Amino acid sequence: MLMAAPHQNAHDGYIRNYLTTGVAKIIGTGREVEARRKDGTIFPIDLSVGEMRVGARRGFIGVIRDITERHEAQRRVQELTAELVHVSRLSDMGQLAASLAHELNQPLAAVMNYAEAARATAAADPARAAELVAKASTQAERAGEIIRRLRAFVEKGSVERTTELLGKVVDEACALAATGAEVDGIQVVRDLVFDVPAISIDKVQIQQVVVNLVRNAIEVLRQSERRVLIVRTAVSDNGDQEVAIADTGPGIAPEIAGRLFQPFVTTKKGGMGVGLSICRSIVEAHGGRLWTEPNPGGGTVFRFVLPASRNGTGGG
Ligand code: ADP
Repeated sequence: MLMAAPHQNAHDGYIRNYLTTGVAKIIGTGREVEARRKDGTIFPIDLSVGEMRVGARRGFIGVIRDITERHEAQRRVQELTAELVHVSRLSDMGQLAASLAHELNQPLAAVMNYAEAARATAAADPARAAELVAKASTQAERAGEIIRRLRAFVEKGSVERTTELLGKVVDEACALAATGAEVDGIQVVRDLVFDVPAISIDKVQIQQVVVNLVRNAIEVLRQSERRVLIVRTAVSDNGDQEVAIADTGPGIAPEIAGRLFQPFVTTKKGGMGVGLSICRSIVEAHGGRLWTEPNPGGGTVFRFVLPASRNGTGGG
């Protein structure tokens, strides 16, 4: 009744198979499958089946856990991660340089042509030469405009600010990123302050930063003996707001410590090494700072500070 096709129809077959072959496919391990609600909708479950023997009788006990929420959280983490990679493309200096070079090439080539032509006609036709010089200067202005536009883009980026409670923003991101961490024996401690002023931030981008830092931390904690992750928010004396993500992992590998925030620096096999560089550009686009320090008991603390909203510029 609870299972969706094809498991529903095959269920008796599974049991028979186990009883005759003794090869357990699910018994004692558990797995994710789909189940069916009363109204016919399908939802993901974690199904574990245990076996029991009472005298000569054999029985099976199935435990079903609804994992809709966990799935939803995983999907959102994937979404945020994809968005992070997208931001990386925008902020990738190489790409920016390439498009800058491309856009500037045209007016600069035109300036050269006009200047060259003006020089050639200067003696014979000074009026024509003056015209050509005027055209050259228009093109030079165009080049300047392109640079101004790009600069504005880099500074503001695609930052879309609203007034937010930092504690709430971090809480949400942390809940997403730490989904399933307990299963790996990782203790996640959230020490967040909420009775503080709201600040003006791009919520999605700041959540991307937190998701990225928390996921990096969880990844190292999985290989670690002590597995504690502390996510903390606080307000500094000057009103700036701070987020700290502290792990009890192995610390930063010395060979990359000096280049940690540069793009394409990674110690992971399939790693892109862009996460931290994007995090830093996002925080800096907010007028803040991101850095790391050793965790006193061993491990690493990633810390970033965001400036308090100035009066009247809060947006939202
Ligand atoms: P990636 O995760 O693709 O490697 P990142 O820029 O997010 O890219 O991280 C760069 C490198 O920084 C990682 O490969 C890892 O060596 C190191 N690192 C990041 N977070 C931690 C951490 N919490 N503890 C130790 N090392 C870390």
